[in-house]
Amino acid sequence: SSNWARAEAILRELEEKCSTPIGKLRQVADAMTVEMHAGLASEGGSKLKMLISYVDNLPSGDEKGLFYALDLGGTNFRVLRVQLGGKEGRVIKQEAVEVSIPPYLMVGSSHELFDFIAAELAKFVASEGEDYHLSTGRQRELGFTFSFPVRQTSIASGSLSKWTKGFSIDDMVGEDVVGELTKAMERQGLDMRVTALVNDTIGTLAGGRYYDNDVVIAVILGTGTNAAYVERAQAIPKWHGLLPKSGEMVINMEWGNFRSSHLSLTEYDQALDDDSLNPGEQIFEKIISGMYLGDIVRRVIWKMAEEAALFGETVPPKLREQFTIRTPVMSAMHHDTSPDLKVVGTKLKEIFGISSTSLKTRRMVVKICDIIARRGARLAAAGMVGILKKQGRDTPPSAGEKQRRVIAMDGGLYEHYTIFSKCLESTLSEMLGDVSESVVITHANDGSGIGAALLAASHSQYL
Ligand code: ADP
Ligand code: MG
Repeated sequence: SSNWARAEAILRELEEKCSTPIGKLRQVADAMTVEMHAGLASEGGSKLKMLISYVDNLPSGDEKGLFYALDLGGTNFRVLRVQLGGKEGRVIKQEAVEVSIPPYLMVGSSHELFDFIAAELAKFVASEGEDYHLSTGRQRELGFTFSFPVRQTSIASGSLSKWTKGFSIDDMVGEDVVGELTKAMERQGLDMRVTALVNDTIGTLAGGRYYDNDVVIAVILGTGTNAAYVERAQAIPKWHGLLPKSGEMVINMEWGNFRSSHLSLTEYDQALDDDSLNPGEQIFEKIISGMYLGDIVRRVIWKMAEEAALFGETVPPKLREQFTIRTPVMSAMHHDTSPDLKVVGTKLKEIFGISSTSLKTRRMVVKICDIIARRGARLAAAGMVGILKKQGRDTPPSAGEKQRRVIAMDGGLYEHYTIFSKCLESTLSEMLGDVSESVVITHANDGSGIGAALLAASHSQYL
């Protein structure tokens, strides 16, 4: 029918716009490298903030004692405690709990959000068992992973530049996030000191390095996306402080805000951006991260429903609503291996009340998921190649150079969306050729929590 022809035309156009041939990926990688240089050269020199983390030493393995970590930066927050035993003992014991953040707190006041968090943290501290030991006379210390763009002023202070990932609490922007947390802990009567403020990429880098000495980059692919890496302090023109002894500085790229004319943006991306809480910002994040992938898919299906009657005469009203297809649902449909695509049918029924769909329609939905997921994965891989290039690690290791370059990866999207992560890995190999033999991706499962605790230890007030 002409409707079906129209649906196919929409699909073909999507496919074309989202195509990421290797030449285009190389342009994206090059653009990433160029923007990295610009962001390091001067404050505001690039869309890439290239934030200085004040972490100039990654964990050595000598860290000892009881430390806490708090990880805030997405739909859940986690609290964790760990007993570190130094080189011999390593991680003696650790425990964590995860709490989901009620959506109203993500758009309310900072006071309410931090009270909620501090109360959960206080509960967790109260449950500390006898196998954890705080040295006598010491205050408990915490590494705070806060995964939003922060302008750091020291290892344990920094002000929020802007919210991302669906958070929007106006009275918090520009405020010192450690100060806010500290005040909330005091209100709870919790005696604890924040000794390190990091974000999840820095935490993942630190946690990754603790377990593997060759970790030089961390990438997060979860609700949002970001990357951090180890830079030579000499290569940071905008850094006017003393050169650290190590000669190195960890940079929080905030790569979610990357944009380039080489990114293949579509009308759907444009509409998603227009409807978002932060229009014009976080464009890279909006085409590759878990918060948004499902919603791009929804927008394509919606267009097909409107213009090609994909589900018959009436357009299911929920198709017009933002985020009705979450990325885990997209992933479940994309991974559907049943011959009649039963999962796709069920999801369309559950979410949109579409009682029955033809196999042809279900296949169409899977194809849309495939196009959007692959574009995201391939662009993420290109970004990673951009970082390797900046580090001079996109060419074969020379004699005397470390043979392995390890990328610590974390986040629910990478962890659970297998087609996405496989595609990312194969794209990395495709782009790096022989060099890919020395590039290793490790899955740093909640590396950021332990990483923040390790950084709290290495920046303890008692050292
Ligand atoms: P956060 O990024 O919020 O700190 P995670 O790293 O756990 O938390 O990532 C959670 C995100 O991962 C979710 O918002 C979702 O976008 C994505 N995700 C979780 N499960 C899946 C899944 N099965 N398939 C695809 N994406 C998933
Ligand atoms: Mg996270």
